[in-house]
Amino acid sequence: MSRACAEIKLSAITQNLKLIKSRTPADVLAVVKADAYGHGLIPVSKALEEAGADWFGTALLEEAISLRKAGILKPIISWLTPLGEDFKSAIDLDIDLGIPSIDLLNEVIKAASLSGKTARIHLEVDTGMSRGGVLSEWDQLIKTVLAAVNLKQIKVIGIWSHFARADEPDELMNQEQLSLFEQKVDHAKAAGIDAEFIHIANSAALFTNKNAHRNIIRSGIALYGLSPDVKNIGDSLSLGLKPAMKLKAKLNLVKDVKAGSSVGYGGTAVLDSDTKLGVVALGYADGIPRNTNNLAGVFVAKKRAPIIGRVSMDQFVVDLGITSTAKTGDEVIVFGDGSGGEYTVDEWAKAANTINYEIITRIGPRVPRIYSRE
Ligand SMILES: *Cc1c(COP(=O)(O)O)cnc(C)c1O
Repeated sequence: MSRACAEIKLSAITQNLKLIKSRTPADVLAVVKADAYGHGLIPVSKALEEAGADWFGTALLEEAISLRKAGILKPIISWLTPLGEDFKSAIDLDIDLGIPSIDLLNEVIKAASLSGKTARIHLEVDTGMSRGGVLSEWDQLIKTVLAAVNLKQIKVIGIWSHFARADEPDELMNQEQLSLFEQKVDHAKAAGIDAEFIHIANSAALFTNKNAHRNIIRSGIALYGLSPDVKNIGDSLSLGLKPAMKLKAKLNLVKDVKAGSSVGYGGTAVLDSDTKLGVVALGYADGIPRNTNNLAGVFVAKKRAPIIGRVSMDQFVVDLGITSTAKTGDEVIVFGDGSGGEYTVDEWAKAANTINYEIITRIGPRVPRIYSRE
């Protein structure tokens, strides 16, 4: 390792897939958007396909195209495509498209005519998140769909929606979203659109809402070994998930610093006793959150060393403690699965006042990903 790296345990990801599959009879769609939540789109997807993932899902079309070009054969859905995308390439490559609006459907229909192939689509219902999806124009959407189905321009493979609060299983909104979803699915069916796949559940709903499983679970965070919500659903360990990413870095420098010295920009931290500080070669340009309190840090020389002062662009400082045996050049663990005493992604999320999803997806491209299969 030179400066820093993220070790990705592919076996953890495939074990998480097995655990998810054991919890549901539904197909599992591996959500690999955002570079597989920062774990690396292609290596992760190849390992998952080999381990039995039934579907793949990405936000962006270019992510889906990369998957096909890398040889992924399973069905792939791309669900966040702006108007004007290259839908013809999507159709030519057998990429399923999420349909969040009538305008987008019309573009896909045009692209299908150009391609000469039937486009595979999944109609998105807005069941209450008020983000993507059709609600008030549903009837109009169905009419447009029927006309294009008759012309074999499109085939409705699925109807889907997304929960706003699946990580809060007691919220009534989950039930409301599910009923509205059912209504729209029934309406489509009555109109003659009998989609084979109905999907609304994410990782949180996998664990908390069996009633919502239908026939595809779209799972992201659980595949990477993290809990959708530590407070309401439990942590990785209690769910049987294995965190797959271990972030490591080097100490660029270890030095003795006197009581009274301030640390970092803004002088926000002042040492109240003599100590040893370590400079870690990772910063907010690598995705380390700038505003992280001292409840996160690194593990080095068999001890936790908390962050002190503000995180800089390329480095941050940790308080090693006066008795630390750490020295310049030592490797530190920024986060891992916690089994060796290191901080976890969940601890980092708490310290930065965010969620574990953000901690892993923001680790930047300057940090090389190293893959292991054991
Ligand atoms: C990101 C995403 C998911 C996966 O959610 P997790 O909470 O990570 O399981 C599922 N469906 C859609 C539409 C998404 O955008």
